[in-house]
Formats: sequence, C-alpha cells, structure tokens
Amino acid sequence: MHKENSLEEYRPIVGDAVIEKIKKRAKKLKNKHIVCVSSTHTGGGVAEMLNAMIPILNDLGVPFGWRILHGTNNFFEITKSIHNAVQGEPFKFTDAKKQIYEETNERFAKFTHLNHDLVVVHDPQPLPMIAYYAKEQPWILRIHPDFSSPDKKTYNYLKKYINMYDQVIVSKKEFTKKGIKPPQSIIYPAIDPLSPKNMELTTKERTRELAKKGIRKDKLLITEVSRFDKWKGFPGLIRAFEIARKDIDARLVLCGSYASDDPEGVAMYQKIVDMVRRSKYKKDIQIVFGDKELFVNALQAESDIVVQNSAKEGFGLTVAEALYKKTPVVATRVGGIPLQVEHGKNGYLVRPNETKKLAKYLVKLGESEELRKKMGQNGKEHVVKNFLITRLMLDWMEIFVDYLVFPNNIGYLGNRLITKLTNGNGG
Ligand code: UDP
Repeated sequence: MHKENSLEEYRPIVGDAVIEKIKKRAKKLKNKHIVCVSSTHTGGGVAEMLNAMIPILNDLGVPFGWRILHGTNNFFEITKSIHNAVQGEPFKFTDAKKQIYEETNERFAKFTHLNHDLVVVHDPQPLPMIAYYAKEQPWILRIHPDFSSPDKKTYNYLKKYINMYDQVIVSKKEFTKKGIKPPQSIIYPAIDPLSPKNMELTTKERTRELAKKGIRKDKLLITEVSRFDKWKGFPGLIRAFEIARKDIDARLVLCGSYASDDPEGVAMYQKIVDMVRRSKYKKDIQIVFGDKELFVNALQAESDIVVQNSAKEGFGLTVAEALYKKTPVVATRVGGIPLQVEHGKNGYLVRPNETKKLAKYLVKLGESEELRKKMGQNGKEHVVKNFLITRLMLDWMEIFVDYLVFPNNIGYLGNRLITKLTNGNGG
C-alpha cells in the first residue's frame, strides 16, 4: 500500500508556486464532499492515480471518498468486452449481457448511498449506475481508454447513460465525441513521484529488487511493464527484440500483471509464455510479475530502454514512470504516448506493428550510452514539468471549483482542454 504523502513533501520536487496554488485551490473546496467510483483499487493506471491523489486532498480539507463497484466474474468479463469495444473491437452485446451489466449497477446503487456534493465515475464498468439514483448533485464521467473509434452498436447503447452526466472527461482531444450532450474536458493523467513506484531508490535497493526476481544486469536491459492485455503489444515486442538481438547483446524483460477487473490476463500471459518458449533467444527473455511497486520502480530505473508497444492506449502511465526515472522510451504513437515521448528527444515513436522500426530504434539506443543518458535527462524534465500528480490535482480541482463554487458559469464553458503542457507537444 501507499505511504500517504502530505503535500509538503512534494515541494522540493515541484517548487513553491505549484504547492501554493494547490493550497489556494483546495481552500475554495473546503468541506465540499466529493466521491469517486471505480471498479478496482489495484492494477492499472486509474487505481494508481486515485491512490495517490485522494489521501492528499483529504489532508487538505477536501473530504474525498472512493467506492469500488462490486461485480461477479461474469460481470467483469462483460465489462472487459465493453472496454475492448470502446477501443474499437466488435462486441455482440446481447440482451442477457446487458441485463447483467445493468442489474449489477442497479444492485450496487442500492447499497451505495451518495449524498455527496459531487460524484466522479471512472470508466464503463460503473457508467450505468447514474440511472439508478435520483440525482441531486453534479455527476462527472471520467473515461480513460481510447474512445476515438468505438464499436458503433456498443457506443450507441452506452450513449444513453453518457448523456445523463453533467460532464465527461477524457485523456486526449481525439477522444472527445461528437453528438453527446455533456460538455467534454481533457485532462492528462499523471504519476506520483513519491509513491513506492516512483520514489528515488538507492543503487543497492534497486539491485536487491532485481535480484529478488532473478534479473541480471550483465548486459543491456530492455523492458516493457504492462498488464497482460492484448492491447499492450507484448508479442510484437518479442519479435522486435529477436530482430534487434542480432545486433545488440541484450536482455528483454516482460513485466506484467493482472487487474482484478480483467479476466483476459491469464490467456495473454499463456500466449507470451508459449512465444518465449519457442524463441531463439529464450535465454535472454524473462517474464516476471510486476506485483511489487518497489520492484517495478527498480526495473524501470535500471532498464536501459523501456518499450511501450501498445496498439491502443488511453494515456500510458508506464511511459511517464520510465521517463521520470531517466530511462528513454521507445513506444507507439497512440493515445497519450506522443504527449510524453518527444521523438528524438527523450525516446522514439513508431506506429503499431512497425516491428522492424521498433527493432531499429532499440539498436540505435542500445548502441549509444551517451544518447540514452541525454534522452533520459530530457525525459525526466518533461515529466517533472507536465505529468506529476500535483498538476493532475490542480486540473481536477479546477473542474470541482467550476461545479461547486461557480456553478452559474458552467453553461458557458463548453468543451475545454484543462491540462496546459509547459513545453513540448501540446496535445
Ligand atoms: N503496472 C504494475 N505492474 C505490472 C504492470 C503494470 O505495477 O506488472 C502498473 C504500471 O506501473 C502503471 C499501471 O500499472 O502504473 C498501468 O497504467 P497504464 O496507464 O500504463 O495502463 P493501463 O493498465 O491503465 O491500461
């Protein structure tokens, strides 16, 4: 679990101005009771961010709660298919499946009493719960995955629920939708520099963490950290590594996890194990579970190159995590990744399935320690300026202030980009 960091501990990292701004904004929200709902408290980016933000906001006098949707395996299989459909995969959403989806939300609503000043709902799993409340406060829907080209039928069905919300928040301009009622805002996710996942470790601690999982640093280390999920591109990375491995002596670490709301992980894991078993370079490829934050931290910091080979991505917190640790990243140009990876400056971008190009950049970076060092430094600066949790808190509080302090202005605001990047790609 997280050590709960008070805001003051962020001062040396982000500077006085940011801290004072957060305090000022939190004052406006004093005693405003906010609650968010998501479907898991562990695994994946949403849980990461909520675990970091919520304790600090409470410390600042903003009572902020978090409820977890309860569901059966059957329910989570359906919501995983909805998640995949939102990212563009066809899905036969039968009446029986709709019934389970709706009834689970209805039941959850019955024992989840919400008398708060504002409600934030994360992602499609708890999306329909709004229909089972006599709504008395603003409801905000936060959608994390790539929502730009969803399966049409699934989207049309979800739309009736989306339209019940007062506001929708997405991770990228391209994810905003035409033809829905609520105004849409864009907030880029962020990482917590003080969490066990990102805090600075000593060389000794890092070495110890890697040793626990049997990872040797006797040659170049290339890593991807991701849930075992079909969108994350592990098989393509194995193929790219096999090409690059002819030119560079390297190890590949595939570090994965399952989220409790994702029933597909085991099958993906098995597929990867089979591929590695058949690989010519199987001795140089390791599959490990990233179930310990300190280990993931050490791995991202000790790797020479981190890869994020996603076919689709909401934002990709793993990219910011690696860059923050001064590790250059080679990644696909999808979702929020191009906001983080500045091509040629802190890493390289390829398109999904550009296996040879991915291999080429692995070799290019693998061959030059100087390049890796320079890019690593640039990456850290970019993340400190733009993708830390302090900026995310400011963005969320901007929305909360709009609804809870100046509600009369809401009608005039329309669609907005809330996050303003300090430099770089702008979005
Ligand atoms: N993660 C982890 N161990 C793993 C795989 C992933 O701790 O083995 C964490 C990763 O460090 C990141 C989050 O899960 O904080 C994944 O967030 P991201 O936005 O990259 O992808 P999502 O899982 O939300 O699609």
